[in-house]
Amino acid sequence: MFCKNCGKELIGTPDICMNCGAVLNPGITQGLLVTTETRTSGFAVTSLVLGLVSLFIPFLGILSIIFGVVSMNQIKKSPNIQGKGMAIAGLVLGIITISWWIIYFVFLASLFLSL
Ligand SMILES: [Zn+2]
Repeated sequence: MFCKNCGKELIGTPDICMNCGAVLNPGITQGLLVTTETRTSGFAVTSLVLGLVSLFIPFLGILSIIFGVVSMNQIKKSPNIQGKGMAIAGLVLGIITISWWIIYFVFLASLFLSL
């Protein structure tokens, strides 16, 4: 067979041209696309988990917001990475839990001050 890209004659039916490196077997590129498309941002997962845990642990929501913002930037730069919904959920949970803990501590402080 001959390379579709550079026209060099190749021995047998290789997946990649030995001369120019062009991909000759479309099955290979499809496989690569499938594996990259299903990648989920680790930062988004971390953000969501931290957001849930911060319901019980004060101010862990700060980390949840940081991870959420980092993963949203990561997803914006590379369209192969998924998990935007999780990143937003983690970010929102972080903001809600921080607000909740601030109200809680202000309430406790006002109780102590009124004694
Ligand atoms: Zn070639």
